Amino acid sequence: MPGAAPPESMDRKLEIVTDVPDRAMVIFAHPDDAEIGSGGVVARWVAAGCEVTYVLCTNGDAGTAERSLTPAELARQRAAEQRAAADFMGVRHVVMLGYPDGFLEETREFLGDVVRAIRRHRPHTVLVHDPYRTRGFQHRDHRKAGIVTTDAVYPFARDHLHFPEQIAGDGLAPHKVRELWYWGMDEPNVIVDVTDSIDRQIAALTRHQSQMPGFNVPPGETLGERVKRSAADHAAGYDFEYGAVFRRLIARR
Ligand SMILES: [Zn+2]
Repeated sequence: MPGAAPPESMDRKLEIVTDVPDRAMVIFAHPDDAEIGSGGVVARWVAAGCEVTYVLCTNGDAGTAERSLTPAELARQRAAEQRAAADFMGVRHVVMLGYPDGFLEETREFLGDVVRAIRRHRPHTVLVHDPYRTRGFQHRDHRKAGIVTTDAVYPFARDHLHFPEQIAGDGLAPHKVRELWYWGMDEPNVIVDVTDSIDRQIAALTRHQSQMPGFNVPPGETLGERVKRSAADHAAGYDFEYGAVFRRLIARR
């Protein structure tokens, strides 16, 4: 129909982010969540010189349908897989908090752990699960990791009177995170071109061998094809082939 406005969803373009932070931190519930949620962006940023820290909240010891594996064996295997994936990605630091899989809660202890990691590694940008997704199921650990990280970024890591023992006792300083990026969001507001890094993301994902049966790849499609199909959908309408989308919050100066 000539002159009709396009539907709002077609009209609303996301901001294309090309800036690379000097330091970034990915906080995630289970081994493999980081590569799924942010692998393309992290690979791109590492290649551009960004120093990346991973904070893995649980040991992933419930993540299998394989009944012959004990939780302790699975946790060991998944820690090794996560280290291999992080090494491959060029991630500089890996912090493993070691909570049991399925047990994340909004406790002072967990909040303090995340605040300590932020104060120690001092990221400009933190990436995490969006805890406020309502369209579709979300693992409870993802929600809890997202909420606790959101609180840790603001105000707990920033203000010196929160967890003062980390400052007086551990010699850490308060730290203000500038940007918080959520993956798995309902409504993204930014997109990053991951055309040159998506193959690295896929290769890192395959380091999580114990999780390959659970990656929900439709028959006839490889994991790589599955990842590329959704990244190509995100990039539709932009002048690049593959995109990763996020909901970004920026701290006030
Ligand atoms: Zn997970």
